Amino acid sequence: MAAYTSGLGGQLTIDLGALARNWRALDKVSPGALTAAVVKADAYGTGLAEAARAFANAGAQFFFTATVDEALALRAAVPAAHIFVLDGLYPGAASLYVRQNLMPVLSSVAMVEEWLDKCIERNEAFPAVLHFDTGMNRLGLRIEEANAVIERMEPLGYQPQMIMSHLACADYPTHEKNRTQLALFESLRQKFPDIPASLANSAGLMNGRDYHFQMVRPGVALYGGRAVIGRPNPMAPVVNLHAPVLQVKPARTGETVGYGASYTLTRDSRLAVLGIGYGDGLFRSLSGSSARQGGVAHINGRTCPIIGRVSMDLTVVDVTDLGDNLPKPGEGAEILGQNIGVDDQADACGTIGYEILTTTLRGRYSRSYIGAEKPA
Ligand SMILES: *Cc1c(COP(=O)(O)O)cnc(C)c1O
Repeated sequence: MAAYTSGLGGQLTIDLGALARNWRALDKVSPGALTAAVVKADAYGTGLAEAARAFANAGAQFFFTATVDEALALRAAVPAAHIFVLDGLYPGAASLYVRQNLMPVLSSVAMVEEWLDKCIERNEAFPAVLHFDTGMNRLGLRIEEANAVIERMEPLGYQPQMIMSHLACADYPTHEKNRTQLALFESLRQKFPDIPASLANSAGLMNGRDYHFQMVRPGVALYGGRAVIGRPNPMAPVVNLHAPVLQVKPARTGETVGYGASYTLTRDSRLAVLGIGYGDGLFRSLSGSSARQGGVAHINGRTCPIIGRVSMDLTVVDVTDLGDNLPKPGEGAEILGQNIGVDDQADACGTIGYEILTTTLRGRYSRSYIGAEKPA
């Protein structure tokens, strides 16, 4: 990612103290289980190395990445980390995993074979996780493959480090699929009696102790995102994104704003032109037309609507209601922060906070980190 350092453009500030507090808060909610940290997709856009160090300083020892490249970056940032790679093992990768002390999350019989072959070759039981599919039909061994896997491992005396599965509907705690998956996972555990187990993402963790087992795997909640739908979000906000005001100008009733002339002014207005657009990962679906409300920016104490189409580098906000309290060129407009949460912006354009975090934080901003805690 290119770094823009003049300080004159968009400003992205990541609160490392909030990351640490969020990790500790989740750790407290799951006292009987180890609390890992999921740091895939550049730690949900916040910066893999910085976020992982913040979690490690707060006490985290176990981390999940999606890709092996993320795992290598994490190994460099937090040398002592225990690292699980969710994408698992692809053919030929086992040597790299062993060399870097990474644990693959094995999700097919072929992956198990590949890993066991490496263990036999080196005569060492390298740790790995078995991922079973309990109803997601994404990655994972099928339940009926458990016996075949056990028959393959038993003669070698090999035991997995952990078994895990993933919930499809944890964000809706009353969804019956949660209970179905929990029951399947419980029955699977009978086949692996002494092996630690893990089922819960952020939402699963918040849905009660039944889901905790020996390790919980929160991601989005660590980054201040909403995990459970329909409940107040208890997590501290982590991300602050301000776009620069480039120009403030008057415009008249009946004039239109932006590409496609999709918004017609119904009053004489004051418009603020912000230096941010879809080229920065600001969703174009935050556009506000005359027919449909779009996203917002927070300026001088007020939430102001985006009007017209979000374009590549520019977005127009209606600041008429600020009266005499108009922003000046060079000042910042909050896109994400204390007043506008990632989920507010997500709701305004029909997506989820996860996508805002992993997309909108990639823009042309100067990035800074605040609130770092001293290593424990
Ligand atoms: C991404 C992911 C998580 C974390 O999920 P959140 O909803 O962000 O807490 C946990 N487990 C698996 C398998 C994942 O892919």
